[in-house]
Amino acid sequence: MSFVIFIVLGSLIGLGLGVASRRFAVEGDPLVDEIEALLPGGQCGQCGKAGCRQAAEAMVSGDMGVDGCPPASSAFRLAAAKVLGISASGGGEDVIWLARVDESHCSGCTRCFKACPYDAIVGATKQVHTVVSDVCTGCRVCADTCPQGCIEVYSPQLAANRWFWPKPIEARG
Ligand code: SF4
Ligand code: SF4
Ligand code: SF4
Repeated sequence: MSFVIFIVLGSLIGLGLGVASRRFAVEGDPLVDEIEALLPGGQCGQCGKAGCRQAAEAMVSGDMGVDGCPPASSAFRLAAAKVLGISASGGGEDVIWLARVDESHCSGCTRCFKACPYDAIVGATKQVHTVVSDVCTGCRVCADTCPQGCIEVYSPQLAANRWFWPKPIEARG
């Protein structure tokens, strides 16, 4: 008998929760969702916000320009400005920033490897770490983490082997 009561009670509570979740559901801002989807997603905090969601909210509310995310490219700025119906600020040529490790001082502590939000560092415990420049966004998180101070973030000179076509901007209806 008590088994039946538990089943009935459980069903009623489940039904009540289902109705409440639909009735009191908080709709997300679709503009924030769109901007967040365009951001690099590194959650690195270089924009001064706790993460990309908060940065997207600030961009939508106007507290932050579309140039507020250092790792994002000019393609992001143009796409975000289009979504928000504003003119892109901070446009122009992208300055590329990359991290590099001074291998002679790397202790292999793995802190940079664990901290990099873009998985752009390879290495193993007590082994020299290195940066995969194709993936690095220059966000500086690793440099702030390294206890040896042996990570430098620099702007490489533009050369033929470092130039890429800008990433395409997703077509929007
Ligand atoms: S700087 Fe860009 S990638 Fe990093 S948390 Fe802010 S919005 Fe996200
Ligand atoms: S700057 Fe450092 S933390 Fe940022 S993406 Fe490059 S390697 Fe990773
Ligand atoms: S944080 Fe610095 S010392 Fe530690 S593995 Fe990375 S580069 Fe080497």
